[in-house]
Amino acid sequence: MDTRKAYQELGVDPGVSDAELKRIWRRLVAAWHPDRNATADASRRMQHINKAYQHIRQLRDCHSDGTADDGCTETGSEQPAASAASEPNGYTKTHVRKVALSLEDAILGCTHTLSGRIAHTCSACVGNGKCILAKACLACRGSGAVRKAALFGWLWNEESCADCGGDGRQRESCGACDGSGEQTVAYRRRVRIPAGVRDSHVLSVPATRSGETEIGLELEVRIAPHPLFILDGDGLLRCEMPVNGYAWMSGRWVEVPTPNGMQQMRLNRNALTYRLSGQGFPTSIRGPRGDYLIKVVPAFPAQDDPEQEVLVEQLIAKSNEAVKADRSQPLGQWQRKLKRWNSKQKEPARDA
Ligand SMILES: [Zn+2]
Ligand SMILES: [Zn+2]
Repeated sequence: MDTRKAYQELGVDPGVSDAELKRIWRRLVAAWHPDRNATADASRRMQHINKAYQHIRQLRDCHSDGTADDGCTETGSEQPAASAASEPNGYTKTHVRKVALSLEDAILGCTHTLSGRIAHTCSACVGNGKCILAKACLACRGSGAVRKAALFGWLWNEESCADCGGDGRQRESCGACDGSGEQTVAYRRRVRIPAGVRDSHVLSVPATRSGETEIGLELEVRIAPHPLFILDGDGLLRCEMPVNGYAWMSGRWVEVPTPNGMQQMRLNRNALTYRLSGQGFPTSIRGPRGDYLIKVVPAFPAQDDPEQEVLVEQLIAKSNEAVKADRSQPLGQWQRKLKRWNSKQKEPARDA
């Protein structure tokens, strides 16, 4: 790689200090890592950035101590990411992933075990898949240039050696990543999800060390649709449930679903909506629970069932008798008023 171009790639002046160079390289890696940067040429830029950085580091290390490269796997070699990894903080990586919760999980809080693998730039070869050896390049015998015959062999052209990129040092495929430039690290983490998280909330899980990589998780919450409950946009939990119309009329107890399980509730013929306070969705993360609204829909059987018709007739006849017997009943009072009025309406017709 051309040294001038390497400095250009990183956007730094050749006089930049080692510390500043490293700081800028890390910032560029953070900005261009394909895991975080969705633009089409992110991985190509990332490779260029790493190549440029490695090139400059090699130049500077050679000038500073003059010692040869001692391989790619040892800590303390001139490979930049290897020295970065030996620092206390090492390589920190935030993995963004989704976590699927049931509505009950979101209401009550839960613990999930999350596992997966994260790919990151190989720390041994800084992502370019090759390690530089302390031997001379075989293709150019360490000169960095190869001679090619031109004009039918009458002349020789010197070209930069393609095998070593012109620096005369032998490369081998990186053993740490099998030449791919990427390593994967597995993680497995038990995560406590607090009560009250909503769909598309993002939770940050602090980083923990896994090998030489520190892994932090960013969890995007997905709440699955519930077969019984509806969570309104304003956080109100609702349920609409059909009930036997006769049971509703006669104020019977029915079983109703709640986020904590089944519960008995007494129906009331004067009410279609029932509010169970403190049994709904939390009003905030880890906050108190709001109200849960149950709307009942009284359902009656089809009218063409002769057996039920007989029973309903009997029920009406019986209740009419009860209404007549009880003078305080509004229906009985109404019937008597109606009868009196109707008989007065008919009187003038009889007189004529
Ligand atoms: Zn590697
Ligand atoms: Zn070469």
